[in-house]
Amino acid sequence: MELNGKIALVTGASSGIGAATALKLAAAGAKVGLAARRVVRLDKLADQIRTTGGEAIAIEMDVVDRASVEAGVAKLVQAYGGLDIVFNNAGLMPISDVEALKVGEWHRMVDVNVKGLMNSTAAALPHLIERGSGHIVNTSSIAGRKVFAGLAVYCATKHAVSAFTEGLRLEVGKKHNIRVTSIQPGAVDTELFNHISDEGYRDQMEGLRDQMSFLSCDNIADTVMFALQAPAHVNVAELFVLPTDQPW
Ligand code: NDP
Repeated sequence: MELNGKIALVTGASSGIGAATALKLAAAGAKVGLAARRVVRLDKLADQIRTTGGEAIAIEMDVVDRASVEAGVAKLVQAYGGLDIVFNNAGLMPISDVEALKVGEWHRMVDVNVKGLMNSTAAALPHLIERGSGHIVNTSSIAGRKVFAGLAVYCATKHAVSAFTEGLRLEVGKKHNIRVTSIQPGAVDTELFNHISDEGYRDQMEGLRDQMSFLSCDNIADTVMFALQAPAHVNVAELFVLPTDQPW
């Protein structure tokens, strides 16, 4: 798909993979809606994009809150006149053993990683259907393909993302000419570990940096761009992208 002039929503655009992808989308000529809760960061990113000749607006959005998501999508559609691309990327990974019973953190992961992604899909889909084309890219994970001890709930949420993504592709690909892609990264250098409250797991995750060369956010942004820029009749359904030296 030619991205120049296309209108894209990126959730989780305030840091990490989302911010890197938003920059590449804007550099390719897309008009980008930058969505997340940390609006100061979004404003800074939007300024950076505009300074380099791109187009972007900051959209304060909590993906857990359906009204916030609907309002954010409406703001983007009003600003640029439609919607072509959705990068459902917001997520978090506060991992711990199940027996630690951090039920609040389990619920938070389900709310953001699964229900949040469904909220933004629900708000965006009618606009893509109206256009008769579009592309939805969902950030799943290696944890959406395999299960790891300590990551039971996170893996459950990312397996749900993978299943939802494939089901969506089956329903809207042929019927509405909408492509649907699941991105499944391994270890990427982002802020994702910052929210791990279990010190042991946080140290373990940080320690992985000494064992392998983490992917950069740009590496994953490039894979998203690959899927988006494929010819219109090509739906890159899944992209499983790992550090070369990731041994699991
Ligand atoms: P970051 O922590 O850097 O980014 C997470 C993004 O999600 C932030 O922009 C954050 O914005 C946003 N977010 C979190 N909660 C909400 C919410 N309630 N509403 C709106 N936005 C929210 O980590 P990553 O870039 O790594 O994470 C992006 C995605 O990549 C996630 O889905 C993650 O699970 C996935 N992933 C990451 C891997 C890695 O190794 N880093 C590997 C595989 C998948 P804000 O706080 O401002 O709202």
